[in-house]
Amino acid sequence: MARTLHDLLAAFARHGGTPDGGVRRLAASAEDGAARDLLAAEIRRRGLGLAVDPIGNMFAMAGLVPSVREAVIVGSHLDSQPTGGRYDGTYGVLAGLLAVEAVAARAAAAPHAARRNLVLANWTNEEGARFQPSLTGSSVYAGTLPGPAAGDLVDGEGVRLAAALDAIGYRGEAPPSFEPARYVELHVEQGSRLEAGGIDIGVVTGAWAARKTSLVFHGEPSHTGPMPMERRRDALRAAARAIDLHYREIETSGTGAHASAARITVFPNSPNVTPSRVQVWFEFRHEDEAIACTLGDRFLAGAKSAVEPLGVGIEIAADERRGAAALDPHGAALALATARDLGFSAVSMKTVAGHDALALQRRVPSSLMFVPSRGGLSHNAAEFTDEAALDKGLAVLVELLWRMVTEAR
Ligand SMILES: [Zn+2]
Repeated sequence: MARTLHDLLAAFARHGGTPDGGVRRLAASAEDGAARDLLAAEIRRRGLGLAVDPIGNMFAMAGLVPSVREAVIVGSHLDSQPTGGRYDGTYGVLAGLLAVEAVAARAAAAPHAARRNLVLANWTNEEGARFQPSLTGSSVYAGTLPGPAAGDLVDGEGVRLAAALDAIGYRGEAPPSFEPARYVELHVEQGSRLEAGGIDIGVVTGAWAARKTSLVFHGEPSHTGPMPMERRRDALRAAARAIDLHYREIETSGTGAHASAARITVFPNSPNVTPSRVQVWFEFRHEDEAIACTLGDRFLAGAKSAVEPLGVGIEIAADERRGAAALDPHGAALALATARDLGFSAVSMKTVAGHDALALQRRVPSSLMFVPSRGGLSHNAAEFTDEAALDKGLAVLVELLWRMVTEAR
């Protein structure tokens, strides 16, 4: 099983594979379509039923107890960032597939032990790289994002998510018929705590809060040459000033918050025109939601007054607040016990990054486990977790799913 995992990871890395060894597999792109086709083939090869819902979430069902509608879902995502690695999301989907297979075999050998079914899920657009917001498919499934609104999300070229899913053949019919009992996700840490501590498994108990604010800086186009400096209303210069302010405020706040400014769009983006419209995404993350929000408020006020002297106005294009979420305590306790029973070292921890499990927790008790990431590196072609560490995660996943489908409640 372990060898199969590494072979599968290598096979999936070819879809959207980049020359530097990374993966660029944006949601609902042709590369994503090819990876989905490969997953569908692997699902069918294992005799599992495949269903696709209208937002493109894929479900593979193992009917351990055909008379029961209740199912434990295991999954993650196949889409990647433009500079993605080969483990982020894909590891969770492939380990999930092999775990479903292993648990189904165990259930067949132990009649009447399983009390609920098992489902593998691949959630659409977890990354939010091509379509915003992120966690799209899992949020639709959780009922916190209306399906039609998700289908109407547009990418940078104006392509609707529903149309992109149609183009790759993954806009499905209806939600599958099972009733979710629990959700479990296995993922690479994308941070360095496990590696630094020499720990095998991280069991996530909750997530940091995040505030993501997209600002549009409105200036005026003019010739970059003759236009007198004092009359220019340069939106990019204003954005640069705001970005610098953003980082300085985070540093001086002493809160330990994480922050970034990214995804800059410049219009008209000609070397000879002062930029008239610039959009930047700012984010603030902290374990405490109130701190993340306060930092955002303080930054917004500061940015407005900082760019005013440049004749540039600020419009808030998006202001998304993600609360500090708690995952299911029973699932976390079960995951910790399972890892330790298998002889692995395990700790509970919080996640800074968003994950489908956090979106799904709104509908179904959800659990999230991490394996170490070398150097904490992620959203990078050099993202790496060694085979032994990946195998340990898979072993814990199999045992945890077995306990979840067989436990009395
Ligand atoms: Zn991921």
